[in-house]
Amino acid sequence: MCGGNHSHDHDHGHGHHHHGNDFTDYKDAVKAYRESFASKEDVMAHAPDPAVRDMVKYMDEQGVESCFDRFDKQKPHCTFGLAGVCCRICSLGPCKITKRSPRGTCGADADLIVARNMVRSAAGGVAGHGARAREVMLTLKKASAGNVDLPIIGKDKVLGVAAAYGLETEGKTVEALAGEIADILLEDMSRTVPGPHKTLKAIAPPERQKVWEELGLIPTSSYHEVFEPCTRPRWAHRGIGARPWISSFGWA
Ligand code: SF4
Repeated sequence: MCGGNHSHDHDHGHGHHHHGNDFTDYKDAVKAYRESFASKEDVMAHAPDPAVRDMVKYMDEQGVESCFDRFDKQKPHCTFGLAGVCCRICSLGPCKITKRSPRGTCGADADLIVARNMVRSAAGGVAGHGARAREVMLTLKKASAGNVDLPIIGKDKVLGVAAAYGLETEGKTVEALAGEIADILLEDMSRTVPGPHKTLKAIAPPERQKVWEELGLIPTSSYHEVFEPCTRPRWAHRGIGARPWISSFGWA
């Protein structure tokens, strides 16, 4: 704990903010990050799993290129890409943030560009996992209806999930319950109109749900939450998501 006579002669390392046309020079941070990148040589010297080294060595002997060769050939990696200040999400770009050009064509500054890139990256992750999950849900639904030759063997799991969703289990077969579960999962994945997210309600800690509710963060559905971040930045050239004055250019 700091005492009252704490000396202030050190660098607090406060982050810089982008007021007006302020520009944060990110080049040193990018340089340090770039220097931390391992090379193929580093991998061969330090990979903890000897199987990795054996595999890379064998691939070399066979003349087969690996990700380590390709990664090295990408060096030096793009400064703007590494800093997250490259924007390619509309046809007025690509734009990059520099001291000379602290805003993209639409007016987006570094903070906004980085935030949009991050949220779209997260949406891509949801889509990637969700697409596979959808296959599982559809298979469960078909299995429950006897439309594929797959038995439902996890009876306890089905009953446990049904209880978490608050489903009536009395007099129902495991197959019927599995079908109801599949329908709930598919609905939570694809709902278009805001409504209760049954899976979150069933499994997320109540205190967390309360915070999400207060912040208006309860998702509508996976599909919707992927649509939203991919849509809003597309309006950027119309001034939405950037600064209000930008729309005065009349690009709408
Ligand atoms: S959204 Fe803005 S910053 Fe991004 S490419 Fe279009 S004009 Fe450039």
